[in-house]
Amino acid sequence: MADRLSILNQAQRDAVTTLSGPLLVLAGAGTGKTRVITYRMAELIRHGIRPDRILSVTFTNKAAKEMLERTRHLLGSAIKGPNRPWISTFHSLCVDVLRKDIEVLGYPAKFTILDRGDQESIARSVLRDIRVTESSLRPGDLLSIISKWKSVGIRPEKAGDAAEDDKEFLAVAAYRRYQARLKSTGGVDFDDLLLLTNELFTKHPDVLEKHQARFDHVQVDEYQDTNGTQFELIEALVQNHRNICVVGDDDQSIYGWRGAEVRHILGFANYFPGAKVVRLEENYRCTDQILDAANELVRHNRVRHKKQLLATKKSQHAVRFLEYEDEQVEAEMVVREIRFLIQQKGVSARDFCILFRTNEQPRIFEQELRRAAIPYLLMGSQSFYDRKEVKDILSYLRVLSSPRDESALLRVINTPPRGIGDASVEKVLTRAVKSGRPFFDVIPDSVQDKEITPKAAQAMLTFQEQLQRFRDRFEHQPRSMDVLCRELIDAVHYNDEIERQYKEPHQQLARQASLDEFINSITQYLERTPNPTLSEYLSTVALEGREEEPDKTKQALEDAVKLMTLHSAKGLEFPRVYMVGMEEGILPHKRSVDGTEDNIAEERRLAYVGVTRAQDFLTMSRAASRIKWGKRRLTIPSRFLREMKGSDKEEEAGEEE
Ligand code: ATP
Ligand code: MG
Repeated sequence: MADRLSILNQAQRDAVTTLSGPLLVLAGAGTGKTRVITYRMAELIRHGIRPDRILSVTFTNKAAKEMLERTRHLLGSAIKGPNRPWISTFHSLCVDVLRKDIEVLGYPAKFTILDRGDQESIARSVLRDIRVTESSLRPGDLLSIISKWKSVGIRPEKAGDAAEDDKEFLAVAAYRRYQARLKSTGGVDFDDLLLLTNELFTKHPDVLEKHQARFDHVQVDEYQDTNGTQFELIEALVQNHRNICVVGDDDQSIYGWRGAEVRHILGFANYFPGAKVVRLEENYRCTDQILDAANELVRHNRVRHKKQLLATKKSQHAVRFLEYEDEQVEAEMVVREIRFLIQQKGVSARDFCILFRTNEQPRIFEQELRRAAIPYLLMGSQSFYDRKEVKDILSYLRVLSSPRDESALLRVINTPPRGIGDASVEKVLTRAVKSGRPFFDVIPDSVQDKEITPKAAQAMLTFQEQLQRFRDRFEHQPRSMDVLCRELIDAVHYNDEIERQYKEPHQQLARQASLDEFINSITQYLERTPNPTLSEYLSTVALEGREEEPDKTKQALEDAVKLMTLHSAKGLEFPRVYMVGMEEGILPHKRSVDGTEDNIAEERRLAYVGVTRAQDFLTMSRAASRIKWGKRRLTIPSRFLREMKGSDKEEEAGEEE
């Protein structure tokens, strides 16, 4: 054993060899918490625990994949096939539970996971139904309010008590309808995944028991970001054996706005009496200079667990604080330096990461990287699955998988055009919604009442038959899903749609190429899945589509500069990090500057997460002026820059306040 664990320090070894009962590892960034989780998993398996009886939960798909790789590396072939440990995100764990048992809640087992676009169209139609104008409540605002409520477990019946302002009062009725609409079309949104699983566990003890019996050990990474619902889920799962190990860092809690509560980690020992607590103090990731900046920064947060964080890596390179004339120059200079290092110094593109706070920031960096012909990958963008042609075909697949999926049906019913007009669709849909029956079932009544012409009805029914034929084939030949999808694209003449929408041959080729890429993603899914099903494939897309591009594109771009938000950088590390746009209003974000000290503290933790991603080089930059609301304006340096430099030190010249 000594050998095996010799690359761990004393405290890490202590955690890794504590194999039962509640265990909390509370430690700063880069101290090897995630390493503890992987080694502990390997250790459990070596002690005879069956891999598939260990559940490890992380926050992103990327982290889950990485953890599986690392465990494989430690254990080799011992963990192949169905007997491998469960490493998943909270959301994919919930999808798994719901696919097995959601029917007792009145949803179909093949429920659809809605994307943002679906949610918006449902929100819009719900608001129209209750005659709320966009000027009083926009669909996007409604969704934010609903998501806020859902993240703290507030259901429609209770929303009335939770509403705090005019918008929220309007949202109460809309929330009820929104939820009813989802249920009647067999759809669940991202927040529902957690809420419905929680509801299953609380209302159906037999279901809970079944899932409790699946796992003997549960581990959670990034525990500081669990919200109330996630906490309850985990607590329910481990009630019987209390074999729970969580690791986290209260200084990196960055999801307060989503209902995450630091008290879950700080109060762990209260929820699990007798819990063992292990602290790790050596940081193996960042140089001493980077760590100094991080420590200086987070020291300004008043409410925190004091932690020692010692650097194990010394460096000659100071953290750089740069100021550029404007955002264009900032992007040019950052990219110019990256190009120089890649081309002249032989640094790999994959060593670089550009971190930003908001989704508007990367555009200009992408433009410069493209111009410099440097491969890059924008993480956290939905760009691939958001392409029109990909969304269209995905919607076809969704209708096949789940006939009640109304938003998908509306998207494809006349795409490409097949003689079914919007007005007819609207009529049939209204009738379907009012009577609570499936869309296609009410068509005969609509014809009888002369709402739609027999010709329109015929076009709809022909379409339905075509769908039904494909539905049967997907059902019976799931192993050939990729081939079937190609046939489907041909059968519905999707090429006509491409030709109709895009006049230039090179545009048409590009659209066809993304459909090819899409089919590749199905093939890849088939390769890695023993028992594929269409609905499972669609869930992976819904879950992963939020984070990254499909596998092939990603592999091709593996050696690429990464661009990502601070939120999605959690848990990752890069040799060279650029934190750009270090200005008041960006980081800390505008919304927080106007808010309370708590909001600022959360932004500070976000900055801390950014700083501690850097292994060897860290560069912070800002633009002296930036275009905002259509006008160029002078910016104010982020307060965090001053804090990082040490509050007793002088401001650098040229940084106006
Ligand atoms: P974060 O808070 O950012 O999630 P973490 O605490 O999970 O960080 P890890 O990602 O597990 O930290 O480890 C940080 C880096 O330090 C990794 O590259 C890891 O391989 C390395 N590391 C961890 N423990 C040791 C050790 N005992 N000796 C050498 N390197 C280590
Ligand atoms: Mg980690």
